[in-house]
Amino acid sequence: MKTFKLKYRILIPLMLAMIVVCGIADIKMYHDTTIAIAPVTCMMLALILFVMFYRVMGEVEDQIENANIELLHINKTIESTSDAILLTDISGKAIYSNKAFFELFGYNAEELNELGGMTILHAEQKMAEEILGSIAKGNSWKGEVKMKTRNNDILNILLRADHISAEKGNLADFIMIHTDVTENKNRETAIIENEDMFSTITSIANDAVIMMDDKGDISYWNAAAEKILGYSSEEVIGKNLHKLLTPEKYHKAYLKGFPDFQKTGKGNVVGKTLELEAVRKGGDDFPVELSLSSVKLRGKWHAVGIIRDITDRKQLERELKNLSYIDGLTGVANRRHLDEVIEYEWKRMMRESKHVSMIMCDIDYFKAYNDTYGHHKGDDCLKIVANTLKIVVKRPADLVARYGGEEFAILLPGVNEKGAGIIAEKMRAKIESLGIIHSGSQACKVVTMSFGVSSIVPDSDSNTTDLIKTADYALYKAKKEGRNKVVVYGKNE
Ligand code: GH3
Ligand code: MG
Ligand code: MG
Repeated sequence: MKTFKLKYRILIPLMLAMIVVCGIADIKMYHDTTIAIAPVTCMMLALILFVMFYRVMGEVEDQIENANIELLHINKTIESTSDAILLTDISGKAIYSNKAFFELFGYNAEELNELGGMTILHAEQKMAEEILGSIAKGNSWKGEVKMKTRNNDILNILLRADHISAEKGNLADFIMIHTDVTENKNRETAIIENEDMFSTITSIANDAVIMMDDKGDISYWNAAAEKILGYSSEEVIGKNLHKLLTPEKYHKAYLKGFPDFQKTGKGNVVGKTLELEAVRKGGDDFPVELSLSSVKLRGKWHAVGIIRDITDRKQLERELKNLSYIDGLTGVANRRHLDEVIEYEWKRMMRESKHVSMIMCDIDYFKAYNDTYGHHKGDDCLKIVANTLKIVVKRPADLVARYGGEEFAILLPGVNEKGAGIIAEKMRAKIESLGIIHSGSQACKVVTMSFGVSSIVPDSDSNTTDLIKTADYALYKAKKEGRNKVVVYGKNE
C-alpha cells in the first residue's frame, strides 16, 4: 500500500507540475498577444485537480489504514484464540492455520499439505469426507469428531466447519474451527463411571446409604436402606429424613443445627461416626451406627449417611459385659462388678441421704466340707448357696456378689441396718433350711453360714471401705460367737 501511495503522490504531482509548466510556456508564447486566458484557465484547472486529488488520496489512505488495522486485529484474534483454526480449499488442502492449530495437532498448514491435507487429521476417514461434502454443498457443519494429532493421540474435537468468500456460485474456501473437548469428555466419562461405581457399590453394600438434600429430604436410598429401615425407595424419596427416620428426642437438635448445615455443610454430627437410634417402618427404635459426611452438589450442601444396624452387636456387647461381671462358678456378680456398683450406689445414696447396707457372709467350716465330700461337691454346694442368697433379695438395686472363696457380699442400697439385719436373718434361715448335710461342721449338722451386717448413710467423711470393713468385722464376730449367726455392726456385735 505504501508503494501505491508513494507512486501516486510523486507521479501525479509531477504530471500536474508539467501541466503548469506547459501553461507558463503558453503564457510566454502568447505573451505579446492579448489572449492569455486559455493558459491561465489551464493552470487554474490543474490547481483544482491537484487539491481534489490530494483530498481523495487522503481518504483512500485513511481507508487503507483502517483496513490494515482491522486486518491486524483479525489476525491477532485468530492467532491468540485457543481454538485451532484451519483454512482449506475445497479439496481440503490447507491454506492457513493458526498458532493454536499447531499447538493442538502439531502441524502447520505446509506440513499438513505434505501429508495430504486436512483429511489426515480425521481418525475416521468417512467423517472427513462427509464434512467436506457437506460444506461443498453450501451447508455449514458442526459436531463432535475424533481427530488425530501428529503424535497419533486421539482427541475429541468439537468441529465447526463452513465456507468463506463464496461469491457468484464459485466454490469457496473452507474454514474449520476446532475446539478440544477431550478433557470435558474424559470428565463426563469419569462422572458416568463414578456414578455407575457408586450405585454398584451401594447396591451391594450391607449398610444403608442414604442421602439428604439441602432441604432435608431424602434424595438417595440404596437396597440395604430398604432392608434395614423397611421402606422402599419410592416410599421415602422426597420425604423429610428426620421426621421419618429419627426418634423424636433428636428432632430439636436437628432443627437447631440444620440452617447452619445448609450454609456451611458442617454440624455436630457431620464427619463423625456415632451410635444413635433410628426408627424403622412400623415405629420401632433400634440401635444404629451412623457415619455422616457432607457433600456440595450444584452449590448446595447435601448429607450422606451410612447407617449400620447394630442391634446384634449391642446384644453381644451386653452379653459380654454381663459375662465380665459374672462369677463363672456361681452365676452371681463377681468382685469387679461389686466394686463398680458399690461406688455408684454410694454416691447415689449420699445424694439421697439414704442408708447403704452391706451383708458379708461365709460358709461355716467349708474346708471341712471339701475335705469330707470332695472339691466337686464343694463347688455344687457353693452354687446352691449363691442361688439361695439371690432368691432372698428382690429389688433391682440389690446385688449378690461372690466376694472370694466361700464368702459372699450383698449390697443393699436404700436399706437401713434393721432391714439389712432382717434380710441377713432370712438368708441364714434359708441356707440352714436347705438341709445340705455337713458332717464336718462343728456348728450344725447341715451347711450353715455366718453373717455380718453393716449400714451407713454415706457422707463426705465416710467411704465404701468403711462399709466393707465394718461388715467384715461383724462377720468375724458372728464366727467368733459360734457361727450360723447374724451380727449387725454397732448393734449386737
Ligand atoms: P470358717 O467357718 O471359719 O469359715 O471355716 P472355713 O473352713 O470355711 O474357712 P477356711 O478359710 O479355713 O476355708 C475356706 C475353704 O473354702 C477353703 C477352700 O478349700 C474352700 N474354697 C474356697 N473357694 C472354693 C471353691 O471355689 N470351691 C470349693 N470347692 N472350695 C472352695
Ligand atoms: Mg468359711
Ligand atoms: Mg472364708
